[in-house]
Amino acid sequence: MKTEVQTMKELVQQKWNKRPLIISGPCSAETEEQVIETATQLAATGKVDMLRAGIWKPRTKPGMFEGNGIVGLPWLLQAKKITGLPTTVEVATAKHVEEALKFDVDMLWIGARTTVNPFSVQEVADALKGVDIPILIKNPINPDLELWSGGIERLQKVGVKQIGMIHRGFSSYGNTEYRNAPMWHLPIEMKRRFPGMPLICDPSHICGNRSMLQSVSQKSIDLDFDGLMLESHIDPDKAWSDAKQQVTPERLLELLNSIVWRQESSTVEEFITALTTLREQINQLDDELMTLLGQRMKLSDKIGEYKRDNSITILQTNRWNEILERAFQKGEKLGLSKEFITKYFDAVHLESIQHQNKIMNS
Ligand code: PEP
Ligand code: MN
Repeated sequence: MKTEVQTMKELVQQKWNKRPLIISGPCSAETEEQVIETATQLAATGKVDMLRAGIWKPRTKPGMFEGNGIVGLPWLLQAKKITGLPTTVEVATAKHVEEALKFDVDMLWIGARTTVNPFSVQEVADALKGVDIPILIKNPINPDLELWSGGIERLQKVGVKQIGMIHRGFSSYGNTEYRNAPMWHLPIEMKRRFPGMPLICDPSHICGNRSMLQSVSQKSIDLDFDGLMLESHIDPDKAWSDAKQQVTPERLLELLNSIVWRQESSTVEEFITALTTLREQINQLDDELMTLLGQRMKLSDKIGEYKRDNSITILQTNRWNEILERAFQKGEKLGLSKEFITKYFDAVHLESIQHQNKIMNS
């Protein structure tokens, strides 16, 4: 007869290989009742594979709720016993790993604020030597793929076999549409670097609000992500952390039911997925090109001011020939035709002349 522990291990394996893998639970384990009630309602949806809850919360400022710490771990164990859902928590130190394992947490994840710090990632990795459970690593808060890749490599080096990635978006200064900008081309690049490694999307921390959760979840599935981690709370407005982005288990079920799950198996679907991925990369590059063109015109404006103040003509044939000659040479190496280069630079030059015209005659 199998022991309970072996059975749970098998269940975790089954979940680890399931697509899509759905992880849900509150941002923080607040009280025993809240954890158990949320878990019970999530299990009743029949759609949730694993229960998440923050035990140690890295908060931006002191005085915010920093998690209940180890007193919350027995609540999760109890929730697992009642619902059968395997559990997962965030770990940031060796001590967290040790405590979580004492309470049979089935999967661990490294948070975004930890991934940025190679010392911390190494400390967690060292504590995971010989531990045979899945470990997920969130992207660092800044858009640095080397840090994210480096974190994965640290885990691989100590022998962690089951590693997954969580995309939770990237922090940026000022008000943006998202709490953490998704920058989809970055997780896509990670998929390219680590083929076959599960990639989970965390729409809750990308959005920071409820209204965009559905579209971000759908987008990640369209981009062939392997699952979702979504925060859910029995009374979201009263949550002790991340209240604005959490949804009730009932709303979570509606959201999951509204998603069009894309299959990998048919050739047509593979085609669609590849197309979406490439188009996303193209959109990103186009955005960057536009930004650069805007910057280029600003430099033109500056030159216009100097020309105006020194009574110099806008058009200077020698300079224009020099620009074209350089572009032809560079373009050839990059596989760009002379015809395209000419058309492109004509358009840029024309726009630049218009900018300077405006300045010189203002
Ligand atoms: C969390 O999952 O609740 C959390 C703190 O996330 P992140 O590390 O993405 O900020
Ligand atoms: Mn949270």
